[in-house]
Amino acid sequence: MRIVFLGAPGSGKGTQAQRLMAEQGLVQISTGDLLRHAVASGTALGQRAKVAMDSGNLVSDDIVLGMIAERVIQEDCNNGYILDGFPRNLTQAEALAALLVDLGQPLDRAVLLNVDMDILMKRITGRRTCSLTGKLLNVYFSTQNDLDACTNEGGELIQRSDDNEETIGNRLNVYREQTEPLIKYYRNAGLLATIDGEGQMDEVYARLTAAVGL
Ligand code: AMP
Repeated sequence: MRIVFLGAPGSGKGTQAQRLMAEQGLVQISTGDLLRHAVASGTALGQRAKVAMDSGNLVSDDIVLGMIAERVIQEDCNNGYILDGFPRNLTQAEALAALLVDLGQPLDRAVLLNVDMDILMKRITGRRTCSLTGKLLNVYFSTQNDLDACTNEGGELIQRSDDNEETIGNRLNVYREQTEPLIKYYRNAGLLATIDGEGQMDEVYARLTAAVGL
């Protein structure tokens, strides 16, 4: 099964993709994670991407499309994958469609996670990643036990550098202007499923699996 996740920053795409990966064996392909990895490794591509990421703008399409084209042909993707944070604009969506036609790998669904703006802000500003496990946590919403499980093992709760109030405003604008048109694009393609992304993680996961028929 091949799925695209749509939704504003903080709508829970990464959290739900990680769970689908753990429970259904689908591979999470997050262009944000791939780019952060390139930045941390100091590659030429990472250096090009960093400026755009720090300001909350989109990285150029050629960089992101190259990464995706390389990633989806790897063997672990044979059982299916979740595109998390890609495509982000119409050019990317059209390039993805062409790529998947070439590969004979049609998309099964595009799932939109709907979340109100005030909750988005809390989710983004409270978001942390455990330095040991990569698990996504939130200082407002995760249980104290889950947060302690990371720090008691010597891990750190790391905040993404672009999860600050200044950058978030621009990321949300970019989402509205460039990514939201994809809702119509996937609706017209007959692929869109919209789910309520609010509430407990388990509730959202149940809606998600029902929406994609898992
Ligand atoms: P994310 O982790 O998905 O919130 O992405 C973090 C940042 O990486 C974004 O604000 C963009 O600067 C960049 N990025 C991630 N995915 C894409 C994409 N598909 N196209 C362009 N830029 C992207």
